[in-house]
Amino acid sequence: MKIVCPTCQKTIDDAPADFEPRPFCSAQCKLVDLGNWLNEGYRFSEPIDELDDGSGERQKPN
Ligand SMILES: [Zn+2]
Repeated sequence: MKIVCPTCQKTIDDAPADFEPRPFCSAQCKLVDLGNWLNEGYRFSEPIDELDDGSGERQKPN
């Protein structure tokens, strides 16, 4: 089974049918994609200025 990872575009030509992180190449890429998806959803609900400052702090909604 051939897999092309949506996150990093890595190709796996001989992945088993029960390949766990499918369609991703690894669990890490799966998490990255999920994180991107969550960030996209968050962005639609309210603007984010504080999320990327690296402090890990988030402004609490009123
Ligand atoms: Zn990948």
